[in-house]
Amino acid sequence: MPPVRRGLGILGGTFDPPHIGHLAAAVEVRSALHLERVLLMVANDPWQKTGVRPLSAAQDRLAMTAAAVLGVDGIEASDLEIARGGPTYSIDTLKELHEVAPEQQLFLIVGSDAATNLHTWHQHDELPELATLVIVERDGENAAVPPAGWTIQRVSMPRLDVSSTELRDRVRNGRPLTPLVTPGVIDEIEARGLYGLADS
Ligand code: ATP
Ligand code: MG
Repeated sequence: MPPVRRGLGILGGTFDPPHIGHLAAAVEVRSALHLERVLLMVANDPWQKTGVRPLSAAQDRLAMTAAAVLGVDGIEASDLEIARGGPTYSIDTLKELHEVAPEQQLFLIVGSDAATNLHTWHQHDELPELATLVIVERDGENAAVPPAGWTIQRVSMPRLDVSSTELRDRVRNGRPLTPLVTPGVIDEIEARGLYGLADS
């Protein structure tokens, strides 16, 4: 019998662009924890990245993320943070999701790089009341030191050495994105002329 699926996973990110590492993490966590759905939560204004490098428009990142999850069971793109507007704080997102469906258990999914940064997040002390922390550990990586105060689940996945930063460089240099992003994402990058593609 298939497992009863419960709970909502939230994988937050900039998704500039979304890649197979993001997808694989979402799919792996959904499977391991038998979650009903996992949302790829597209940050409106990722305040820790703003000003550090140019960011694609939120609507462009949302469109690419919607394309990335197309046909992937139980994984969805969410525009909740973009619809809310302003600087993106996970605390607001968790509160909003909790208010909509208080009975639903929330799972905040982070890679180990993000896990070690959690103490820098806005109102991080209040996050553990709202969600279980899921730390995704990529094979061969040192186990992240768990931040205090959280209920933690660890999920391991194969290491996929891909990052949005590398993909943006690839577009700039005319190198292929296949198979690091899904075909629909490539279509969106081309149609929207992202990452300097239009100038090349
Ligand atoms: P950038 O290079 O712009 O920082 P990124 O590829 O690291 O982009 P983020 O938006 O920073 O993507 O990451 C969102 C979430 O996805 C984080 O929790 C991060 O740990 C996780 N993540 C990023 N890349 C991978 C990957 N290759 N495999 C698994 N998880 C990943
Ligand atoms: Mg990153």
